[in-house]
Amino acid sequence: MKLLVATRNAHKLEEIRALLPGVELVGTAAWPQVPDPEETGQTFEANAAIKAAAWCAAIGLPALADDSGLEVEALGGAPGIYSARYAGVHGDTAANNARLLRDLAGVPPEKRGARFVCALALALPGEPVRTLRGECAGRILLEPRGVHGFGYDPLFAPEGFDASFGELPEAVKARLSHRARAFALAREHWPEVR
Ligand code: IMP
Repeated sequence: MKLLVATRNAHKLEEIRALLPGVELVGTAAWPQVPDPEETGQTFEANAAIKAAAWCAAIGLPALADDSGLEVEALGGAPGIYSARYAGVHGDTAANNARLLRDLAGVPPEKRGARFVCALALALPGEPVRTLRGECAGRILLEPRGVHGFGYDPLFAPEGFDASFGELPEAVKARLSHRARAFALAREHWPEVR
């Protein structure tokens, strides 16, 4: 079965290929004329479902979409679904990380709990959209550390580690991450991606 992945990002598509070996995947970059839907949902699941349903309807193929971000306890779950544009400009990692540290100024290590979340949605023509989520718990460090990964990785130490995802070997993140967990659950529950 051919599965559409609702991303135009070649790097993300390759990452997902590694997580779903044996499934024939095609990215949405092949349809530049089809617009991306607006992500108007209030949860990761809702936004993943909007993307999967829109692409499935537009192309007529089964579609898989993801939506991810960081939830910080002391900030009531922010930046949450706004993780990519926390400081205002979509994808400005340096500004997002600086804002996160500013918002947590004075918050002691034991109150800096956080989690990465990855929601996945699978839409098949004529069927209700299915969703699930993977999470990775940890805490926000007092300063950025390490150069691996992307986004908030240098500020996030997963549970059981003192080092950040920016410092830990990528193989460790590949095993522990919210994305790895979400795809493992998908393979467990959704026969279409096995
Ligand atoms: P999206 O799911 O690609 O829209 O990602 C949303 C945002 O969440 C990214 O721009 C990052 O800021 C953040 N994020 C998601 N996953 C990770 C991760 O594994 N490490 C660091 N930041 C992440």
